[in-house]
Amino acid sequence: MSLSKDIDDSVDPSKGGDLVGTLYLVATPIGNLEDITHRALKVLSSVDLIAAEDTRKTKILLDHYTISKPMLSYFSYNERHRTPQLVEKLKKGQSIALVSDAGTPGISDPAYHIVQSCVAAGIPIVPIPGPAAFISALIVSGLPTDRFVFEGFLPLKKGRKTKLELLSRETRTIVLYESPHRVLRTLGEIRSFFGERNVVVARELTKKFEEIVRGPVSSVLEELCRKQARGEYVLIVEGASGASAHVVE
Ligand code: SAM
Repeated sequence: MSLSKDIDDSVDPSKGGDLVGTLYLVATPIGNLEDITHRALKVLSSVDLIAAEDTRKTKILLDHYTISKPMLSYFSYNERHRTPQLVEKLKKGQSIALVSDAGTPGISDPAYHIVQSCVAAGIPIVPIPGPAAFISALIVSGLPTDRFVFEGFLPLKKGRKTKLELLSRETRTIVLYESPHRVLRTLGEIRSFFGERNVVVARELTKKFEEIVRGPVSSVLEELCRKQARGEYVLIVEGASGASAHVVE
């Protein structure tokens, strides 16, 4: 293991060079405001601008840590239009922190377009690691963590059936994000397409009503049907075994 002692240097917004700024991809809490690194707070305090998926949500975090910074919105519907504006600012030497509503930017959240543009323009990009809901769910699941596939949200309509058929043969542990409105439907489809499999439902991680339900999909469904679905969910599904099983590319 090698740990750098040059923490101060690594968050110096001028690190990227004299002329261009640096884009920092900063992970933020997925519920508990205390789940943020010292380095993330240091970066958020020292950049010129914070690009946030939801400026009101990010303000709650910044206020909690008495950080005051100019903010710009950067979300899925304005990212194509916003990216060139942010790249111009970076080219002029400004340093920018990109944060999403929760967790790690770029993980089922905007970041990809600006990262691509910064790569193309030779602008330095620095990751500031921290929470991602799927990692927390996976490590408490009790299912194999040595090999897994992160699928994010399943397609809503087009391609959903094909994806479920493909995933039914996947041998690695499968990780999905799901909304409270669809969690029962998705678990029902997992039972239909995959058969009886062990699943883990991780709800409201790091929050007051954190809950982990483990077991065969039928019994998990039975348990979840007893109460109203609320909050945020990660679904972890045991990989396939047997003749038709394979790693899905
Ligand atoms: N960027 C985030 C990350 O790093 O995990 C994910 C953003 S995605 C738009 C939101 C989804 O992540 C939710 O619908 C849910 O599936 C999952 N999620 C986020 N926070 C969660 C939490 N505290 N507990 C369980 N799932 C969570």
